[in-house]
Amino acid sequence: MFNVAKIRKDFPILNRQVNGKPLVYLDNAATSQTPKQVIDVIVDYYSNYNANIHRGVHALSQEATDKYEQARQKIQRHFNVAKSHEVIFTSGTTHAINLVANGFSSILKKGDEILVSAMEHHSNIVPWQMLAERTGAVLKVIPMNQEGELLMNTYQEMLSEKVKLVFCNHVSNALGTINPIEKIINMAHDVGAAVLIDGAQAAPHIKADMQKLDVDFYTVSAHKICGPTGAGMLYGKEEWLNKLPPYQGGGEMIAEVTFEKTTYADLPHKFEAGTPNICGGIAFGGALDYMNAIGFESIAEYEHELLDYATKKLLEIDGLKIYGTAKNKTSVISFNIDNIHPYDIGTILDKLGIAVRTGHHCAQPIMDFYKIPGTVRASFSFYNTKEEVDILVEGVKRAKNMLL
Ligand SMILES: *Cc1c(COP(=O)(O)O)cnc(C)c1O
Repeated sequence: MFNVAKIRKDFPILNRQVNGKPLVYLDNAATSQTPKQVIDVIVDYYSNYNANIHRGVHALSQEATDKYEQARQKIQRHFNVAKSHEVIFTSGTTHAINLVANGFSSILKKGDEILVSAMEHHSNIVPWQMLAERTGAVLKVIPMNQEGELLMNTYQEMLSEKVKLVFCNHVSNALGTINPIEKIINMAHDVGAAVLIDGAQAAPHIKADMQKLDVDFYTVSAHKICGPTGAGMLYGKEEWLNKLPPYQGGGEMIAEVTFEKTTYADLPHKFEAGTPNICGGIAFGGALDYMNAIGFESIAEYEHELLDYATKKLLEIDGLKIYGTAKNKTSVISFNIDNIHPYDIGTILDKLGIAVRTGHHCAQPIMDFYKIPGTVRASFSFYNTKEEVDILVEGVKRAKNMLL
């Protein structure tokens, strides 16, 4: 039995009030809340073994190094990564994608093609545009339909020997669509293209298996899966990580430095220049422990119940339209009511203690596709309840009455 009342006790922030009302936090696709088990890991680090890693001979440094490397192994196990040095600690998804895009500067040639899906977050568009500008490669867009599903036949037609790289999110943060990444990866590999999957929005809901997917790169942000901000991972296949040049130069990423020539450290250190977010990396591991103790299957099942319930209740409101109606989706609902500006609805909901996101959700091309300025987005986590869905629905009705 999924015990949401018990789970909610792990999240101190869920007890607070906003504008005199109990907080109803429905902005989980932007960042998740942090359970006390993860907060404890952070407090423990700064209270007991804060030190720089990988260099000190002293006890604290060794303790911190051990914990940091154990966290890497937790991430490795969670995502079923073959080798622990294929897990690169980053500050998050944005950092991870930029690292790969930068590396491909020395691999792509003029006229090579790179494919991006039509439903990407800006962080999975802009670095590739910059790459295309630097290299003369051509960026092409895999289109989607009104439901928010990629047109796989068009994708098939776009694939050729010219395509060197395909990038796509596992789950769309703006629409909730779960993309058929197994197919996307296999089809790209058939023409010899590498694939980067942005897993930022999938990681809170789906436990992805790197070896089974056979993906080349996969990115995650810890703050979306109950971990801290400023921590995340890049998974890369060993042969790709060896091929890519380092992203940043500095301490920790070198084997030997002279003024004539520097040789680089082995993986993963080649991509981990400077003092990393040590506490953040360790807490990322703690967050995976926490979520795995609940279980990703139970989480997905419960969130699906919330999604179905909220979809049904919201659609009972006259004039409400949901954007993103893919058959396969996570617990994200993007909507508008008639011509009311999403910002106005969000402001009234905030007065009622309800936190939603309004705007383009860092995915402007999706808004252009639907010819809307933005949406109201409610995104549900496993610690939300049906009662909170009811409060949202009542709030939206109230906002509609005030604004129409
Ligand atoms: C949140 C998100 C990102 C950006 O992640 P950061 O943690 O801000 O680097 C990228 N892609 C998707 C799909 C996201 O949901």
